[in-house]
Amino acid sequence: MKQVIIATNNKGKAKDFEALLVPLGYEVLTLQDIDKDIDVEETGTTFEENAILKAEETAAILGKPVISDDSGLEIDALGGEPGVYSARYAGEQKNDDANIDKVLEKLEGVPDEKRTARFRCVLAIAAPGEKTETFSGTCGGRILTGRRGTHGFGYDPIFFVPALDKAMAELKPEEKAEISHRGNALRELKAAMPAWLS
Ligand code: IMP
Repeated sequence: MKQVIIATNNKGKAKDFEALLVPLGYEVLTLQDIDKDIDVEETGTTFEENAILKAEETAAILGKPVISDDSGLEIDALGGEPGVYSARYAGEQKNDDANIDKVLEKLEGVPDEKRTARFRCVLAIAAPGEKTETFSGTCGGRILTGRRGTHGFGYDPIFFVPALDKAMAELKPEEKAEISHRGNALRELKAAMPAWLS
């Protein structure tokens, strides 16, 4: 089986990647499967900069091809917040529940039609001696006024997907993969899979 290393310690992201890459014949490894403590500082101001940083630094350390994912939620009524700060919106402890509470509080009183938002994902694929490439995907929806569903991670319980009439956290991993920002970015990557990965 071909192996691909995802530069993440986030179990939620890893599950999303498995749903997408296992059917393509890949074994998905994350930084937790590798006996090395790698935590690249995300100093970029865009998803793209951070994705490239994570992929290139991790590929240089491991000497292997790596895919990284930088993603987040953009809420129109909050001027695009939390954006690149999605993971640490409510503080450096990166707590999903606290992040959701902060969003719900900030959107209190904002009517449904003004709660539009999108998830955005940029994937970077890097390998020693190869040119880094990036791919992106989005998924549009609306922020709910409370949590729904138990699947997924991050902001999934408060992200409503109008096309399916469900919250993202009410979708099974395979269902999420079909419509998500990460799924869309991975389909872009798959369509232009660098020869050196396969
Ligand atoms: P990163 O690890 O710096 O890319 O942070 C990504 C953060 O964006 C996560 O910790 C979540 O808060 C949020 N996020 C990204 N993708 C998703 C998703 O698919 N569902 C819910 N939240 C997401």
